[in-house]
Amino acid sequence: MSSYLVELEGIVCGGRPTGETSLLITILTENRGKLTVYARGALRDHRRIGGALDTCSRSAWSLLPRGGGEDRIPLVDQADLIDAHPSLRRDLGRLLRALFMIETVRLHYGGGGALYDHLAAGLAAVDRRPHTGRGFLWWFVSRLLELSGHAPELARCVVCAKGETIVGLDPSAGGAICGACAPGRARTMALGPQGLRVLRGLASAGGVDPSATRDLSPKTSREIGSILRAWIEWPVGGDVPLPALDALQLLGSTSR
Ligand SMILES: [Zn+2]
Repeated sequence: MSSYLVELEGIVCGGRPTGETSLLITILTENRGKLTVYARGALRDHRRIGGALDTCSRSAWSLLPRGGGEDRIPLVDQADLIDAHPSLRRDLGRLLRALFMIETVRLHYGGGGALYDHLAAGLAAVDRRPHTGRGFLWWFVSRLLELSGHAPELARCVVCAKGETIVGLDPSAGGAICGACAPGRARTMALGPQGLRVLRGLASAGGVDPSATRDLSPKTSREIGSILRAWIEWPVGGDVPLPALDALQLLGSTSR
């Protein structure tokens, strides 16, 4: 094996054709951040590396760094599947949840590390566990925000630092807003006591507590969904496209 090869692990988060037979593929690597790689002839010779290049696949990569200019994108020498997440290909709901996890992690991705492990574990869960609906996705996003340093302050009002009657959350202020501070704060997103309990529970739990997210009123579910979406978007400039989340909501798949 060439000493110039770089070996790493990464999850495919998308790709597009280039030329007639090749692919440019974006991977979230275990410890080198987000990387675009060039898979020469991948469309012609799919059997050689097959599913390792498919979106959502977790693969081991051997990459050949190239020179400057447009050739600087590393060339895929070899890619071997670690986990193809086969259930995702058979179940639209699971696939959309997996794509949603990838699109949110991608927005917040730094070097890798804990966020990579979080995504890898999340994809494996959505692929194999029976119940990974709304509560699981909420937990996934809460943990993602915590790992990326963007979790909302939920213990007390971020304006007056008191813990009294929280009535909403303001993404521009970083967290909870109390009833006394809310008037005049146009960005405050309403959150009732039930929703606040759920968000606090998600933030403190080591895993998902399904009972915390069951039997919620539609209003509370909408409040939590809107707040988590705002917290996904706010650290990266706000109002970013989240096509998988939009599709999940259209299909009602976030509620199961
Ligand atoms: Zn306050």
